[in-house]
Amino acid sequence: MRKGTIDVKTENIFPIIKKFLYSDHEIFLRELVSNAVDATQKLKIIASLGKYKEELGDLTIQIVLDKKAGTLSVIDKGIGMTADEIEKYIAQIAFSSAEDFVKKYKGKSEQETKALIGHFGLGFYSSFMVADKVEILTKTYKKGGPTKSIKWECDGSPEYTIDETDKKERGTEVVLHFADDSKEFLEEYRILELLKKYSRFLPVPIQFGTEKTYEKVEGEKDENGNDKQIEVEKPRIINNTNPAWRRKPAELKDEDYKNFYRELYPMTFDEPLFQIHLNVDYPFNLTGILYFPKVKNYLEVRKDKIQLYSNQVFITDSVEGIVPDFLTLLHGVLDSPDIPLNVSRSFLQSDANVKKISSHIMKKVADKLEELFKKDKEGFEKKWEDIQIFIEYGMISEEKFYERAEKFALFKNTDGKFFTFKDYKKHIKDNQTNKDKKLVYLYTTNADEQHSYIQNARDKGYDVLAFEGPLHNHFINALEQKFENAQFTRVDADVIDKLIAKEDEQPSKLSEKEQERLKEIIEKNVNKEKFIVVFESLSETELPVIITQPEFMRRMRDMSKLGGGDMSYFGNMPETYNLVINTNHQMIGQILETKTEKKQTRLIKQLTDLALLSQNLLKGEELTTFIKRSVEIIK
Ligand code: ADP
Repeated sequence: MRKGTIDVKTENIFPIIKKFLYSDHEIFLRELVSNAVDATQKLKIIASLGKYKEELGDLTIQIVLDKKAGTLSVIDKGIGMTADEIEKYIAQIAFSSAEDFVKKYKGKSEQETKALIGHFGLGFYSSFMVADKVEILTKTYKKGGPTKSIKWECDGSPEYTIDETDKKERGTEVVLHFADDSKEFLEEYRILELLKKYSRFLPVPIQFGTEKTYEKVEGEKDENGNDKQIEVEKPRIINNTNPAWRRKPAELKDEDYKNFYRELYPMTFDEPLFQIHLNVDYPFNLTGILYFPKVKNYLEVRKDKIQLYSNQVFITDSVEGIVPDFLTLLHGVLDSPDIPLNVSRSFLQSDANVKKISSHIMKKVADKLEELFKKDKEGFEKKWEDIQIFIEYGMISEEKFYERAEKFALFKNTDGKFFTFKDYKKHIKDNQTNKDKKLVYLYTTNADEQHSYIQNARDKGYDVLAFEGPLHNHFINALEQKFENAQFTRVDADVIDKLIAKEDEQPSKLSEKEQERLKEIIEKNVNKEKFIVVFESLSETELPVIITQPEFMRRMRDMSKLGGGDMSYFGNMPETYNLVINTNHQMIGQILETKTEKKQTRLIKQLTDLALLSQNLLKGEELTTFIKRSVEIIK
């Protein structure tokens, strides 16, 4: 028997590992299984090079839980280790990264330490987060030389022992003796859960226990005349060793992608719209499949559906900082050994590789969307409702993406017709350029509520865009900055003739004196905190009273509702409207001519209520009064 001391200057680092890796204890299993997979893959390579000539046999990795003994074993049939290799790889190299960690930890706050932890894959040593004793039984694939099977044992102090043992099979078995505070890992369901989480797509089969399935018995029928089935117990294999993203895109049909989507998200019933298969090996390594999900309801849009893998080992399902924010709305998997794992977010964001990967993904997504658009415009329009949020979000947040997407992003008008930005500009150019030579984009955010305004604009030959997505406020702001000489105005922001005025106002039929008198009368009859009375000399055929909501104020208020910190000033302001009085309308003139005050009031109330009604602003008691008054008038 040999004895040794782990080459470490720090007294006892295990308590530290344990304390600070606390929240991540479960990763020990990921690390051990990954090591077992690596050892197996290495053997396969060696064999394929002709340097190992014996039968490889069944290479399935076994995970064995022994509740009575309080142990968990991870058993592989990989390359194994010699005594010297154990000393070199386990006792020295592996430990030095752990030691590095401790050095950095010294003198740092707990929070800083947590951020640091990620920089060190503790690998094999993460076993000591959960075990108070670890044994390694191993037999190397090598022939000749010191090739006896070896047992290494360590109880969490820097001292370990190495001994010969009688292990017959090639490969390595790591046995963890769980510490008292880690007995949760002796539960089968817990281990199963961890294996499903981290090892679902590892490239070597992993078996944990058995499972019952039903199998047909050839040629036999049951009492109902159906094929006879018997219950059989089979090894339970945890993983799919050849997941779709690692296969060649040319090998896969649309159905295969859909099946893989179901495999990834068994609880999701919707099918994805389409997918992008990423497959790069230079200048970085990246594979993956990104799916565009169907978005039925914006509240359902959920981030954190993308899973990040490194060589098929699950790392995280939070890819923030790795892909641009708008792409975190997609589903699927990304796999790259070039993404530094377990590191803090701020580190990730500044990592050059991550930046490259991120812009590559963005480019691929833009390529795919452009391809879909070019190939089949109608199909693209049909998908628009579902992909709109990604595209608009991307255009708002990523300059590079905007540059690509402005070619295929679509506007939809209130007729349900789609236009590219360029086509739409052409469409409205002649009719919607105002006297300042600005192109006026009219839009609605709710075609039902703003119906009378839309109708009015349409009657005058203007086109109205339907901006009904959740991001329309931000999107409009972004477009206004990009488009030259353009302004976006909601249909109810002002009297339509003024919005797109080509000439100056026509003269008013009422004198200034008359207007002053009228103002007094009207203000007596409306809530002055809510309505600002303004006079406009519009066409006689325009309505007598119109309610509008100035674009700027409304937008500020909407934005502050969305949670812009500095804007709360606007959010707290009461909603105000312009009560636009068309001085050229015959009925307005009539108000002044009306003899009794009672009749005058009735006329004003009726006209303003009608205007309020068209904005959906007449509610409660006011609505009841209006209806009663209307009945009176009809009588
Ligand atoms: P890493 O896997 O990141 O190299 P580890 O601490 O997990 O770090 O492992 C250290 C080294 O120990 C590995 O690189 C490998 O050489 C050796 N090793 C660990 N587990 C096994 C195993 N199951 N079979 C053979 N060698 C192993």
